[in-house]
Amino acid sequence: MANQEDIFKKVVSHAKEYGFIFPSSEIYDGLGAVYDYGQLGTELKNNIKSYWWKAMVQYHENIVGIDSAIFMHPKIWKASGHVDAFNDPLIDNKDSKKRYRADVLIEDHIAKIEDKIKKECEKAQKRFGEAFNREQFVSTNARVLEHQKQIDEIHAKYAELMNNNDLVGLKQLILDLGIVCPISGTRNWTDVRQFNLMFATKMGSVIDDSDTLYLRPETAQGIFVNFLNVQKSGRMKIPFGIAQIGKAFRNEIVARQFIFRMREFEQMEMQFFVRPGSELDWFKYWKEERLKWHLALGIPAEKYRYHDHEKLAHYANAATDIEFEFPFGFKELEGIHSRTDFDLSRHSEFSGKKLQYFDSELNESYTPYVIETSIGVDRTFLAIFSHALKDETLEDGSTRTVLSLPPVLAPYKAAILPLVKKDGLPEKAREIMELLKYDFMVQYDEKDAIGRRYRRQDAIGTPYCITVDNETLEGAGVTVRHRDTMQQERVAIENLNSYLHEHIKPIKA
Ligand code: ATP
Repeated sequence: MANQEDIFKKVVSHAKEYGFIFPSSEIYDGLGAVYDYGQLGTELKNNIKSYWWKAMVQYHENIVGIDSAIFMHPKIWKASGHVDAFNDPLIDNKDSKKRYRADVLIEDHIAKIEDKIKKECEKAQKRFGEAFNREQFVSTNARVLEHQKQIDEIHAKYAELMNNNDLVGLKQLILDLGIVCPISGTRNWTDVRQFNLMFATKMGSVIDDSDTLYLRPETAQGIFVNFLNVQKSGRMKIPFGIAQIGKAFRNEIVARQFIFRMREFEQMEMQFFVRPGSELDWFKYWKEERLKWHLALGIPAEKYRYHDHEKLAHYANAATDIEFEFPFGFKELEGIHSRTDFDLSRHSEFSGKKLQYFDSELNESYTPYVIETSIGVDRTFLAIFSHALKDETLEDGSTRTVLSLPPVLAPYKAAILPLVKKDGLPEKAREIMELLKYDFMVQYDEKDAIGRRYRRQDAIGTPYCITVDNETLEGAGVTVRHRDTMQQERVAIENLNSYLHEHIKPIKA
């Protein structure tokens, strides 16, 4: 079996080769941690966004969507705390001159110990076979318990240091754990420093401090500052949500994981406004609801896990991440945060405008509490894409690469392929294109032998290949080949549209 690193390399090269993702400004040797979506990547990305938008906005009566500007009043980032506190602790290795996030070095160290536990379990599973009871094993095996104790101790120390913003302590912990630079292999570290992740720019022609704008590092603030506009114009009643999809920008210190960590990326965020006191119930609700959304994609449940935060941001009273097992291990895919009334209160304070809600049932005004769900489009893309990409050995011993995307997310829903480039087959195929293209993204392809065309469609995730042959001209319909099973069946041309509608259903979480 290929190792994780090989799988990841394959994901990156497949994405480029087939027009999903290109390095930005490639002919100028690229720009660090910035990527462009190509012709197929854009389709897949749009379909992911549409799946989220439908699940959040269309299927919930009490959630509406907005699209706020990227540029916002600079005071917003003072109020939100980003100017003072949107920092990452950075550390350099003096020998390799490589820069790291101190928190990530520690988390990676913990992940290595978790890996040891995983390996112990796998070994034991092999030994005990059917009789293996994981829960019992991890609660009794001496080696596992020792590893777990180590993890718990590091976690506790790490959370305390992060909460106290103790940079000296963080460096000491890195030294105590014997963490070495993966490049130089040494422990020759600089002190830990804070680094603000926001990009700044100037608006207008007068250069003074008041003109400094920030590219938004999250879309959420555009929702908070429009809370009253939406609530009043939409006559929204609490509990209700405001959703938004849009670009965000962060000057990430370490950006070496393809589209997992980019400097320009896209978020899908929803802020759900609730009565004070009910927020933890809603937090639980959204935590479960969001995981269901992921699972409905058909990816196995063991690829996901919750990671509850020990270190809570100053504004949060509960927070969890949904982590996904990427080719480089379990990492955050989505955050769910109970943000209290922090944001609305701060914007009230800084703007001088009262951001409150009159609850007619209670006959009182209050500042609503907020549950946030925040997911990266690009990380979701990477999760879905890397899971879908497979090399398969077929019964006859040949191999194929297939991208088993959920049909509704696939860039093309069907490819229309005349068996040969003559005898009127291309013309018939074009007629079928005309029939389907207003409902579905379809692609016409007449180049190369049919087998090679099937393989190409498999590699880009097209769920159905519609082949036009001589019998089609005699009224016998077309063959429809299924990507995953490679089974073929004949379908009448007049039924093709409804056939595709039936087979490509929206995903319901
Ligand atoms: P991390 O700890 O990995 O830096 P974060 O906790 O800072 O992430 P949030 O601020 O909670 O992330 O952002 C919400 C979501 O936005 C994340 O779950 C992730 O999917 C996405 N996201 C954040 N930063 C990036 C980035 N640099 N590139 C791509 N997606 C990102």
